[in-house]
Order: sequence, then structure tokens, then C-alpha cells
Amino acid sequence: MSEATTPTIHDLWLLPLGGCGEIGMNLNLYGHNGRWLMVDCGVTFNKTLQQNSDVNTTKHQIIAADPQFIASRKQLLDGMIITHAHEDHVGAVAFLWRRFKCPIYTNAFTAEVLNRKLAENGLLGRVPVHVISTGTSKTIGVFDVEWIPLTHSIPEPQALVIKTPAGKVFHTADWKLDAHPVVGNGYRPETYQNVGLQNIDAMVCDSTNATEDGWSTSEGALEDGLFQLIKQQKGRVIVACFGSNVARLQTLIRVANKVGRYCTVLGRSLENMIGCARNSNMWPDELEVVPSAHIGYLPKEEVLVIATGSQGEPKTALHRLAHQNHFALDLEEGDSVIFSSRTIPGNEAEVESLLKKLEQLKVNVFQANDAELPIHASGHPHQEELKAMYRWIKPRIAIPVHGEDKHLTANASIAREVGVKHQLVGKNGDIFQIAPYPGVRRQVIETGMIEIKRP
Ligand SMILES: [Zn+2]
Ligand SMILES: [Zn+2]
Repeated sequence: MSEATTPTIHDLWLLPLGGCGEIGMNLNLYGHNGRWLMVDCGVTFNKTLQQNSDVNTTKHQIIAADPQFIASRKQLLDGMIITHAHEDHVGAVAFLWRRFKCPIYTNAFTAEVLNRKLAENGLLGRVPVHVISTGTSKTIGVFDVEWIPLTHSIPEPQALVIKTPAGKVFHTADWKLDAHPVVGNGYRPETYQNVGLQNIDAMVCDSTNATEDGWSTSEGALEDGLFQLIKQQKGRVIVACFGSNVARLQTLIRVANKVGRYCTVLGRSLENMIGCARNSNMWPDELEVVPSAHIGYLPKEEVLVIATGSQGEPKTALHRLAHQNHFALDLEEGDSVIFSSRTIPGNEAEVESLLKKLEQLKVNVFQANDAELPIHASGHPHQEELKAMYRWIKPRIAIPVHGEDKHLTANASIAREVGVKHQLVGKNGDIFQIAPYPGVRRQVIETGMIEIKRP
């Protein structure tokens, strides 16, 4: 085996195979003393396989990072940590696990989500999934890992402190600083100040919103905006949002109760997420959803529907509603569709054609940008949040990940501005050396994308 791709006892490396230089399909490897630890194993949607661009490729494929590098040395992989249950972090596990056969460590909510995916792939009970509580520590091979609570747009997001004799990393995964996340607790600065006392070498950090100034909107601030908008509507109200945002679902059901509407959900992923939240004791009993089969028979002004499909994806509930082929109801003039979401870059054309269809139906459409009060909040840190975290953690090295080039560069300049000495900006396939000294060895490992086929 090549020495150049085997970390020694003096080395601590980060090797991203996916998610660095792009948003989606995160797959990170940490290397020390001949061993590897995987952090996240996600997918991305609605992309073409660029390396096959001469072949007739279609969109809407499910894509994962090519795991060949680590699959071919799986005996050196000590384990896999899944930081949270978003598809870009957990989505590929059930499809790729057979190539690693390693233990998995994650929180209770993500384990619920993951186990359903494993069951669909005939793997339930065959994969060792260890449930880790936030705030605890575990030794995984040559890596000592501590799970640190954070806030994001899904239950139980966790950052990691990964310690080896060669060095220590604070791996943020996806986060924002939300004092009122609706589900779970807000953040406490002391948590991160205490991490900062541990002499952290590198902070590997979410860059998604590094080009946005100020602070992100709190999830807790949305109830008012959604209430004001929904109470003005006369017909049925359909709200499209990301199914995994359990807090948003709960806020919408509370708003429905306040304005005297029955709430239902359309879309399997929404039903799934509510099931996972119930099983993880994160769903208050009083928040009821009525069966979707009933909703077509209720007076229009008493109906609020939460639907999947905010990105215009075919086969989702909103797509079917817009094309008048959903079993539960037919949209009519005077009904309203509210996007409590943002369009993910790359999906503009699909969303545009969905909007056209809705327009033809003479449905009122509200997007997050047009609303007077906030009706959508991002789950990723804006510039002031990044500064606060760098000041608390005080790393010597900043390694921006989870973003395209412009996001990584913006994150690096924020790190520089608040006094982080080294900023390492690179992409998938680069080896980021954290110890013994900072540096990037560019394009050492071949990376790529693979298509995932559902069973
Ligand atoms: Zn993510
Ligand atoms: Zn996320």
C-alpha cells in the first residue's frame, strides 16, 4: 500500500470523498495510524453523473460519493459515524454498507430513520447500529470521539470532537445557532467554550451559508409568520416544506389548530418522519394529523395540508396536486400553496414548471421570499454564527467543507478575520493534513460519483 495514502502515528488527516466543493453526498474520512473513521455517508439528488456527460444521462437519479478508496481497504475502517438524519449525511448508508461492514454510531432519531432504510434494503438486524447520547464519549478504534449538541433543522444534530494522540478535530457537521429550535434545546455558548479549552487543532466546518451576512432566522420565529399568512387564506392551504424538518411540521400543526383547520400530511417521507419523531419521543401527543383520505370531504376553509415536493420533484405530493392526479384532493381556484422552503440550487427549472402548473389552476402561491414575515429558516450558519463558533473553539486550522468553492472561500476568510491561523481550502480527493503540520496534498485520491439504484 502506498505510504502517501496511509496515515502514520504522527498523522491526523481529513480526506473528503464527497461533500467538499459541492453541497450534498457527504462522505468524510479521518485517518490516523493506519486506520480510518468515516463521518457521514449521504446522497445527493437531481443531478447528472458528470463523468458520463457524453452518455445520455437523466436527472433525478440518486447519487453517492464513490467509496472505492475506503471500500478497497475496509479492514482499516474502524467505524462510521452519522451526525444527523438528513439525506446528504445518512442517505447512502443502506446502499453502501455491504461494502464496509463496519459498526455504525449515531443518535436515537437518526437510528430510527436509518433502521427504516436498512429494512427496505434487507439489512435490518444485520448492521450493528450503536445509539449514542449527546454529551457522551466513545473510543472507536484509534479514535476517541465525543458527541457535542448543536442546533440545525432536524432533531438531534451533533458535532464531534475527534481525538487522537496526533491531534484533535472539532467536526461541526451541519449547524446553526438557534436559541429556539422548537424541537430539542437551544445552544449554550459554554458548551463550545469548553470544547475550546481542549486545544483543538482543526475545525472542520459547514460552509453552506458562509456568503450570508448576519444571523440565520430562528425556527421559533416562524410560527408568527406562518400564522399571519395562513389566517388570511380562504380556500384550502397546502404548505410545502422539507419533510425532515420535524420542528416545522410541529409549528404548522400548531398554526392549523390556531386558525381552526384540520391538518394532514401528504407524502411518504413526511409520514415516515412523524413516525420516527414519535418513536424517539419528540412528538407531543396533542399534535394530531387527520388521515389524508378524509381531507377531500372537509370544508375547504378547514383544511391545511403539509406536502412533500417543494423542489418540484416528480412523484411527490405537490407535483401530483399540481397535475391534478392526487387521490386525496383536487386543487381549485382560491386554494393556496405556500412554500415554507427554499429552492435548492439546481432545482430551479423543476420548481418553475411546478409554479406554472399551479398558476394554470389559479391557485394562490406564496414563496418564502415574498412573505412579509419569515416563513422559512435555513439550518446553516450565517457569518456572525461562524465568527462566534471560531471564537469559542479557537482552532489553529480552519477546514471549510459542505459547500461549493465560493462558500468554502467565504468561510475561510471569516476564519482568517477572527484570527484562525491556517485555512485549508480544497475539495474531494485532497488529503487535508491536520497533524503533524497543516497542509493540503491535492488530488491524491481518485473520487467520483456512483448512481444508487433502489431495490
Ligand atoms: Zn448537510
Ligand atoms: Zn443537515
